[in-house]
This record gives sequence, C-alpha cells and structure tokens, in this order.
Amino acid sequence: MNKNSSNKMAMAPNTSKKRETVCIFGTGDFGRALGHKMIQSGYPVVFGSRSTQTSSLIPKDAEVLSHAEAAQKAAIIIIAIHRQHYNFLTPLAEILHGKVLVDVSNNLKTNQYPESNAEYLAQLVPGAKVVKAFNTVSAWALQSGTLDASRQVFVCGDDMEAKQMVMDIVRALGLTPLDQGSLLAAQEIENYPLQLFPMWKFPILLSLGLIAFFFFYCLIRDVIYPYVYENKDFSFFIAISIPNRICPILALILLALVYLPGVLAAIIQLYRGTKYRRFPDWLDKWMLCRKQLGLVALAFASLHVLYTLIIPIRSFVRWKISSRTISKALNNETEPLNTTNAWLSDSYLALGILGFFLFVLLGITSLPSVSNSVNWREFRFVQSKLGYLTLILCTAHTLVYGGNRFLSPSSYRWYLPNVYMLSLIVPCIVLVVKFVLIFPCLDKPLTRIRQGWERNPQYSE
Ligand code: NAP
Repeated sequence: MNKNSSNKMAMAPNTSKKRETVCIFGTGDFGRALGHKMIQSGYPVVFGSRSTQTSSLIPKDAEVLSHAEAAQKAAIIIIAIHRQHYNFLTPLAEILHGKVLVDVSNNLKTNQYPESNAEYLAQLVPGAKVVKAFNTVSAWALQSGTLDASRQVFVCGDDMEAKQMVMDIVRALGLTPLDQGSLLAAQEIENYPLQLFPMWKFPILLSLGLIAFFFFYCLIRDVIYPYVYENKDFSFFIAISIPNRICPILALILLALVYLPGVLAAIIQLYRGTKYRRFPDWLDKWMLCRKQLGLVALAFASLHVLYTLIIPIRSFVRWKISSRTISKALNNETEPLNTTNAWLSDSYLALGILGFFLFVLLGITSLPSVSNSVNWREFRFVQSKLGYLTLILCTAHTLVYGGNRFLSPSSYRWYLPNVYMLSLIVPCIVLVVKFVLIFPCLDKPLTRIRQGWERNPQYSE
C-alpha cells in the first residue's frame, strides 16, 4: 500500500467506534498531556521523538518511535514542539506529504515573528495540510481534567477536510471547536493566550488611579487636618473609614462612566447628523469595556456594603456613642426626636439598599449565561433603563447622605470640599445630559439618525 492511499484511509470519515491513530511529535509537557487525554478518549497514540526510549511519564498505552516511523503510522500529526525546533521537519517533508499537521505552538510575545508559527510550518512542509489548534488549552488543564473554564479550542486552516478531522478530535476530547477560518487567522489565535485581560486594563488602571487620588484626598482632609489643627490622631481611619469612603465614591463614578460614553456618542451623532461616521478610537474602546467598568463598580459597591455592616462593632463608633450618651446623662440633657433627620437617615438607607439591589441585578444580567437567555430588547431594557435607575438611586443616596452639609463652611477643610461632593460631579453630568436628550426635539432626530437617516447624505442617488 503506498503512502498516499494510507493517508486517504486515515482521512475517511470516522464511522466505526475504532478511532484513527494519532501521532504526536514531542514527548514534552504538552505532547504527553494531549496524548494522555487522547488515549482516554479512545485514540491509539504514537509519539515521534528524538529518543525512542519510553519513560514512566509517557502514557503507558502509547508507542514511542522515531519521527519518521511514527509519522507513517497516522494521517494526523500533532507538532507539540516549540517553533524554534521546526527545522528538523524539513528532511521529513516527503513522509509528511499529504498529512495533516496540527500546530499547537505559542510564542512568548505577541506578533513575535512576521508570520504565524502555523504559516511558518506550512512553508517548511509545503505538501502538508497545516491546521492551527489546541494552543489555548494548557498542558496542566488537559492532564488534570480541569478544562471547565477553557473548553473552547480555536481551529483554523486552509484545507476544509483537514480542519474537519481536527475538529472531530477536539469534539471527541470533550472540547468545543471554534472554526476561525483560514490559516491567516493563526496569528490572532497565537496572540490570544498572550493577552492580559485586554478589556479589564482600562477599568483597573482607572480604578487604581482614582483610589490613589481619593486616598490622599481623604488622608489630607480626615487625618492630617485634624492632627495639625486639633492635635487629634485619627490615623486609624486608614483601616476602615477611608476605604469606606473611597469604595462608594468609586462605585458611583465608575457606574456613571458606564453611561457617559453612550451620552457622548449621542451628542456626536446629533452633531454630525449621521451614524455612519466612526467614533474616535478612544470612545470605541471605552464603549467596549463598559461591562468591565460596571463589574468593577459593583465590586466597590459590595465592599462598601461589607464595610458599612461592621460600623456598629467598631471601637471608635462604640466609644463615640457611649461618651455622647454619658455626657448627656451627666448634664441631664434629653434630645427630642428630630423627624427631619430620621427621614433623611431612613431615605438615605432605603435609596442605598434599592440602588445596591439593582446594581446586583445589572451584574447578574451581564453574565453570559443570563444575557444569552434574554432577547436584545430585554437586555437593553435591563442594561439601559434599569441601569439609569440604578445610577439615579445611587446618586440620590449620596445626595441625601450629604444633606445640608453641602453648604456648611465646616465641610470645607483647607478649601477642600467633602469627598462625596466630588463623587457627584460625573453622575450628575451624565444624568442631566441624559435628561436633556430625552426631550422630543433631540430624541426624535437621534432616533431617526440611529435608524439610518442622515442630515447630509454622503451617497445620494
Ligand atoms: P516542552 O516540554 O519543552 O517539550 C517540547 C518537546 O519538543 C521536547 O520534549 C522534545 O521532545 C521536543 N524537542 C525539543 N527540542 C527539539 C529539537 N531540537 N528537535 C526536535 N524536537 C525537539 O514544551 P511543551 O510545553 O510540551 O510545549 C510544546 C509545544 O506546545 C510548544 O509549541 C508550546 O507553545 C505548545 N503549547 C504548550 C502548552 C503548555 O501548557 N505547555 C499549551 C499550549 C501550547 P522529544 O524529547 O520527545 O523529542
């Protein structure tokens, strides 16, 4: 039987229970882990290695042969070897002719080489059918069976039949293949595992910047100022009081920043009179990470809830209440109930509870499993209408907390206003502009623009 006919036999659709032999070049971490998983899934595995000695690390049902011998036993060869060593494949080009070569390799840096590793492999062995796959799955996850978080396997290649064969193997291993198209997509697939939370970068850096700013702001106002003017040591505020100021502020500002780009986009569209011109890059990027901004905001809101719950057991708070009570008792003073204060306090708490409840609801609906089960209109209703309601409630919660202290000169220390006043700037701007945009004179043209109408059409018939 000649070489090509044996390939055709191996490439025929897998109808019987018996699976085709798969060859893996390289007995390193990834080769062994993949071999182990394949044997578990019923594939006979043969390793191609520089050393044919088997070791206890190699799956015991697998054969270890030289590269040339192993390649002849299978139609699919998985190259579990780093790109730098691909040169050894050139002398094997004749044996590899017509075989499906699966490139699983990753690089150390994004766009490290001018062409992807898979394209490089295709250039080295022009007669082979190269398919890119498995590079986003780790050896550890394969070996330990903890693949829950990374079941997706991106697959790309120029030969449809070869790609289908690899996708069948992916499915047989209990993973989900995602066809990414031709081998041109390989570079992107190779860059994918090297990305470091791309959508989270902006929200996290922004949060860190805001935390640093508000921390020093509160430190100056609440710790350094009383120390300088009243010789009081409130340095312990750093542990709970200051974090419990920063968390709600960040939650509110970040929530407002989720809705600010939408408002800016509306203004830009109204000004341009069309939706067919691209937004500036910074606005596009900002819009893409709104979900992450919202989730970071929710994390800060949750921390604020936790910090607030422990307020009654704080030594400082207990001391303050008891010393006030004792002083009143000693002076034989009584304090009538101040209904206005009671109203303010209860409304402040009620607004906070409702705002946090809706905040959590927004977070839940952003989970893929939930958002996939609602239609577009339902999703927009929750994220837009309930989102704005959450912003209104949380802004009102902060406004009521401030009460009439906004106008009191004692709220200003070294001309610095209380920190919650600063937190209201962005949310109030967003809410006011949104309110203005609701007016029919602006809402109607905006709706028309979003439906495709143009004030000055670029392409008139
Ligand atoms: P590894 O542990 O270093 O194994 C690489 C294997 O390549 C070696 O065991 C060796 O096998 C073979 N090899 C080394 N030098 C060679 C040479 N000069 N000529 C021919 N063969 C040579 O690396 P690995 O972690 O298994 O990674 C293998 C490939 O899988 C890489 O391209 C990597 O990017 C990719 N990958 C790895 C992971 C992971 O989690 N480790 C995840 C996704 C993708 P023999 O001694 O049997 O010849």
